[in-house]
Amino acid sequence: MTTGQSNVSPQAFRMDPDETTVGRRGVLLVLSSPSGAGKTTLARALLKADQNITMSVSATTRAARPGEVDGQDYHFVTPDRFEEMVGADALLEWATVFDNRYGTPRAPVEAELSAGRDVLFDIDWQGAQQLADTLPADVVRVFVLPPSIDALAERLRNRAQDSDAVVEARMARAVDEISHWGEYDYVIVNRAVPQSTAALTAILCAERQKRNRQPGLAQFVGSLNSAD
Ligand code: 5GP
Repeated sequence: MTTGQSNVSPQAFRMDPDETTVGRRGVLLVLSSPSGAGKTTLARALLKADQNITMSVSATTRAARPGEVDGQDYHFVTPDRFEEMVGADALLEWATVFDNRYGTPRAPVEAELSAGRDVLFDIDWQGAQQLADTLPADVVRVFVLPPSIDALAERLRNRAQDSDAVVEARMARAVDEISHWGEYDYVIVNRAVPQSTAALTAILCAERQKRNRQPGLAQFVGSLNSAD
């Protein structure tokens, strides 16, 4: 296992005129699951339902699957380019998954946080750990479980893009990924997409109301007290 980690000190909130003086510090919402548990569907549903969260687009050395768009699904890069990004401290975290390298570009995340917006990450447990170590006050970790191991196997088999060997490797890795569920703040058993999406939306909504994510509260309350 190869992982990377680096320091970051983003200007993590801004005072938003629409939110009076309360301000807002962005949530870094990390979604992990074994592949086939429905994480991508949930991520898309959340992005559609909420305009204030954007998806972090990872860099990867793996080949694009049919239908995947460079710059949208991933930044598809060569191993040399990936190494360059690591050397330039351009990645917030990185890991090797299925013999390919994956990493989170730092600059877009810092830009979103500075603008008071939230960022959604579809990354594995290694990346989740690294982000939580680097930005403990900002990261919220959600783990998505399949309703059963049979359902997971079925979903993986139905993914026409992958060969039998790849499906087998993914099943083995799924068991490993699932073993990390206890490191997450929230766990969603994905029995039905609408309910799971509602749960994910509720988590984001509640996390936004946390006291430490409303940095101007003391000032705001002061203004309430001096009003009379
Ligand atoms: P896939 O190749 O199926 O798109 O992704 C394989 C695994 O890599 C998934 O578990 C996904 O969450 C994870 N992954 C994707 N991007 C990143 C990343 O930037 N960092 C880390 N640590 N894992 C990632």
